[in-house]
Amino acid sequence: MDYRRTYVRDLFNLAPGTETSAFGWVKTRRDSKGVSFVQLSDGSCFRDFQVVIAAGTISEDVLKLITTGACVRFDGVVVESPAAGQAVELSASGVEVFGGADAANYPLQKKGATLEYLREIAHLRARGNTFGAVFRMRAQAAQAIHQFFAKRGFHYIQTPIITASDAEGAGAMFQVTTALEVNAPLEAPDGQFAYRLRSANPEHDFFGKPSYLTVSGQLEAETIALGMTNVYTFGPTFRAENSSTSRHLAEFWMVEPEMAFCDLEGNMNLAEEFLKEVIGNLLDFCGDDLSFFNQRIEPHLLETLEHVVTSPFERLTYTEAVTMLEQSGENFEFPVGWGTDLQSEHERWLTEVKVGRPVILTDYPKEIKAFYMRQNEDGKTVRAMDVLAPRIGEIIGGSQREERLDVLEARIKESGLPLEPYWWYLDLRRFGSAPHAGFGLGFERLLMYVTGMKNIRDVIPYHRTPGNADF
Ligand code: ATP
Ligand code: MN
Repeated sequence: MDYRRTYVRDLFNLAPGTETSAFGWVKTRRDSKGVSFVQLSDGSCFRDFQVVIAAGTISEDVLKLITTGACVRFDGVVVESPAAGQAVELSASGVEVFGGADAANYPLQKKGATLEYLREIAHLRARGNTFGAVFRMRAQAAQAIHQFFAKRGFHYIQTPIITASDAEGAGAMFQVTTALEVNAPLEAPDGQFAYRLRSANPEHDFFGKPSYLTVSGQLEAETIALGMTNVYTFGPTFRAENSSTSRHLAEFWMVEPEMAFCDLEGNMNLAEEFLKEVIGNLLDFCGDDLSFFNQRIEPHLLETLEHVVTSPFERLTYTEAVTMLEQSGENFEFPVGWGTDLQSEHERWLTEVKVGRPVILTDYPKEIKAFYMRQNEDGKTVRAMDVLAPRIGEIIGGSQREERLDVLEARIKESGLPLEPYWWYLDLRRFGSAPHAGFGLGFERLLMYVTGMKNIRDVIPYHRTPGNADF
């Protein structure tokens, strides 16, 4: 046996009369007048393949093992199928059961299991319709992203996962340390647990200074863009925010392009092209999975995605958006006013009620954005851009970067940050500085958008959130 077998998705295209084998897991078995009908899936496509076992072909003892969840190989011949919805099926002449799945105990047995329950058995959920579809879309989207950049001459780079730079204050960080004896929790006198410290001196820690899991590869990506022009990262990022929302993970994947000789306009153009092309690719290659999401998870999903691909995104300044929100007559939970950050309810009103498609907001007040964003002539706003999508809110955050050394230094100090750790970042402005821009796209936010799944925990194989690192 090797990997070069016929996938279930290819079995549908075989001509009647072809002898073949079908490998997979049994979704269901139904018996009628001595004939057994098995729906077989191997995750290669959304559809199950029907295998028919004529009376007497397989001994009763073996037939008993062919239950939901069992892993099998059927040998047989492809025949025309009298059933609706499929041209061919396999008429089985033999079977090998690789692994049975005791019907009384198989956790995926019950129909209509909730998404919450499936999260508890995340190690088995890839076998179901919903998660098979999610993970196929995830794989296809990742390929589409690499293709998008490759076609445009971007270099794929890898930025560090462990870093001593606190990036940009993008989010709370996880510290990486060997200073604690992790397997030696002590019971402190006040009844609380503490860990024994090997040394309290950060210089004795593994990296010689406090180190963290990265919250973004942006600053490092900038250094490589200012030498290689167009680059992108696609890797895991970590945020220790203690908030359990349906849109935040502690470990998520981020796509971060960075372009030299590019301004905010070019950045917006790339972000818009990016979303359109990746979504277009999914519409082309994941039709069956998308039909399922459209039918079972999010009504009008297909319509919405097709609309996103074909219509221009609305572009507004933050100031224009705030004025619209103030004049909306809506009773928002959080007040809107120039200078405050937009809340998810505001982003949703703009995209869903006001505009009805994705919106790119630009030129935010500098106080609510990171120090590295290029300051506008008005001295009050920066060249930031957030792409907001209906249902999701912020899906992309980006900016034109501040390339002027003096302005950047002033902004770092204004933000209350020390200059010293940014010496290398400032060097880029000291030597051969260039106008440049880039953005960060949360891969799981994109997947929520294209699948219609409501909880970010359901678009990644194993979610890391406060209180959960299972599997
Ligand atoms: P938000 O305001 O939604 O919390 P942010 O402004 O903190 O996001 P950025 O620092 O701009 O996020 O990160 C870039 C992108 O990464 C965001 O546009 C979003 O798509 C995604 N993202 C940010 N935080 C998370 C998270 N905790 N889990 C999943 N995706 C995230
Ligand atoms: Mn953001």
